Amino acid sequence: MKFIGAHVSAAGGVEMAPRNAHAIGANAFALFTRNQKQWSPKPLTEGNISAFKAACEELDFGPDQILAHDGYLINLGHPEDEGLEKSRAAFLDEMQRCELLGIGLLNFHPGSHLNQISEESCIARIADSINSAHEKTRGVTAVIENTAGQGSNIGHRFEHIAAIIDKVADKKRVGVCIDTAHTYAAGYDLKSAAGYEAAWREFDRIIGFKYLRGMHLNDSKKELATRVDRHEQLGEGTLGLEPFKRLMKDTRFDGIPLILETPDESKWADEIMLLRGLAA
Ligand SMILES: [Zn+2]
Ligand SMILES: [Zn+2]
Repeated sequence: MKFIGAHVSAAGGVEMAPRNAHAIGANAFALFTRNQKQWSPKPLTEGNISAFKAACEELDFGPDQILAHDGYLINLGHPEDEGLEKSRAAFLDEMQRCELLGIGLLNFHPGSHLNQISEESCIARIADSINSAHEKTRGVTAVIENTAGQGSNIGHRFEHIAAIIDKVADKKRVGVCIDTAHTYAAGYDLKSAAGYEAAWREFDRIIGFKYLRGMHLNDSKKELATRVDRHEQLGEGTLGLEPFKRLMKDTRFDGIPLILETPDESKWADEIMLLRGLAA
């Protein structure tokens, strides 16, 4: 069974997200559980929490059909102590919010070395950040998203992600989210049939499918290996529809949230319908 949805708005309270997802025909969704541009957003209220849980129950969204996304300010591999501490505190708050809401998966971008430290020490910082969040929470999996490799971002090579996982103590609470646009821009050719098979073989060899806990389904405005992160509507970018046809027929992607982050949200209901058609 394919769980297909989009990164929906939580404006007006987190409890709006499951309703917004249901309205576009989704059986999975992503959301920000706090304002993604602030360091110290308002805490969740008891009202938010109970309304969110009630809506998920009513609309049939289980914990593994919801993929929270953390805020954009957080850098768990920050080269400076102050930036790192701030990021870790915010990430812990993100994990605790998921815990309170009964969300099983928190997706985040691994981090950036900002050209101040080596990839290796950035990776070690990221793993330590995950370990310290794990120590203070229960039941939430930290899901590392692969990146396009823009700027000094870590995570555009499967090897980076494998190296982070290797240093995480509790392997049951770490996972991976693969974003199709990032993957292609990072240089993995999901577009051709042979490239698709090769990329997923490499993913399985280096990271392992057992760690795959979610996907972001985006076409790309940018070509293969440009290392620029620009999402496009499905079928309207450089990837085209072929890779999404293959994904929808591929049982390796059953049972995990498959989330659209395409730029025009007015097209999400149609894109979900299109994907369901490809899966049928
Ligand atoms: Zn992301
Ligand atoms: Zn993404």
